[in-house]
Amino acid sequence: MPTHAFGAHAADQPLVPLDIDRRAPGPRDVQIEIAYCGVCHSDLHTVKSEWSGTRYPCVPGHEIVGHVSAVGAQVTGFKVGDTVGVGCMVDSCQHCAACDEGLEQYCTNGFTGTYNGATQDPPGHTLGGYSQRIVVDERFVLRIRHDAGQLAAVAPLLCAGITTYSPLRHWNVGPGKKVGIVGIGGLGHMGIKLTHAMGAHVVAFTTSESKRQDAHHLGADEVVVSRDADAMAAHAGSFDFILDTVAASHELDAFTTLLKRDGTLCLVGVPEHPHPSPNIGVLIFGRRSIAGSLIGGIRETQEMLDFCAEHGIVSDIEMIPAQAINEAYERMLRSDVKYRFVIDIASLAK
Ligand code: NAP
Ligand code: ZN
Repeated sequence: MPTHAFGAHAADQPLVPLDIDRRAPGPRDVQIEIAYCGVCHSDLHTVKSEWSGTRYPCVPGHEIVGHVSAVGAQVTGFKVGDTVGVGCMVDSCQHCAACDEGLEQYCTNGFTGTYNGATQDPPGHTLGGYSQRIVVDERFVLRIRHDAGQLAAVAPLLCAGITTYSPLRHWNVGPGKKVGIVGIGGLGHMGIKLTHAMGAHVVAFTTSESKRQDAHHLGADEVVVSRDADAMAAHAGSFDFILDTVAASHELDAFTTLLKRDGTLCLVGVPEHPHPSPNIGVLIFGRRSIAGSLIGGIRETQEMLDFCAEHGIVSDIEMIPAQAINEAYERMLRSDVKYRFVIDIASLAK
């Protein structure tokens, strides 16, 4: 079905309007009219091929919310009119050990990304949510239980929400734990809200003094400007867990030194250029760990959406028309987002 979209034809080109074709729903497919799509820093990394391997035309977007407009004959979980979401994955092998555990993001045969993934649909790679509609296997469709008026602000939960929720759960964040969130952007602001809701003591680390007040409103108990060496030193050896969401290369020692014995620094940011090598002494004297985490499985994404609906958690968003996407990317590069851009997909009809 012909579908208006926004995407890029090459790494050094801006995003422009383009028309794509969506497959007719197969027996297990759900067709979704997209209402809103969040703008993740991964979209920007991919469009500009900062991780290399981007296939063009590239239509990004993996924070998708909308309404079901058609379902295949074998679909049992969804019906026309349902409010649903799609995150970073649209398929996986379904038979490896990871998929069996509901950890499709670690599928040993490789999951299919919502964009830039392999598919038999034209043009041979998946095209994401900066588009009017998408067709997805029902196993990768999420149910949204928030109030209808919150729908735009729910979109970022599909990536920024689950990417922070999953490591917070895996490392047992909760009451009595001291937790740091590094970088107050799309992921980081969700990390602050979720950590606060889980009952831990939250310290936000930012390079932007101007975000101090906001960080407290988001739920941070303390805010540290990471360029202030004295403020950093005051927290030495005190954290159980630190989640680093920064999208650029930086010194990790500044944060590993803040961990307690057996503490973990978990990286979720994926910068274009590597971080400088960490100081190994800091790790071995204290048995500290540096770890990584990738989005979250479908079951956990549903759990996160339901947790957020129950706790009244959504993202803080700035709504934009699709035509403003290039300017939004410029602002994201300046860390000037409060705190997630969301595209109003109705703007694509123009
Ligand atoms: P974002 O909205 O741009 O936020 C990143 C934040 O990092 C900025 O707001 C800024 O916060 C801080 N920052 C930026 N440049 C910095 C620098 N040079 N030094 C120190 N801090 C800096 O990006 P996002 O959408 O949250 O994504 C963050 C990263 O996570 C990206 O690399 C993205 O690709 C990755 N990601 C990973 C996964 C996963 O599964 N692991 C999933 C989604 C996204 P302050 O102003 O507070 O300092
Ligand atoms: Zn993302």
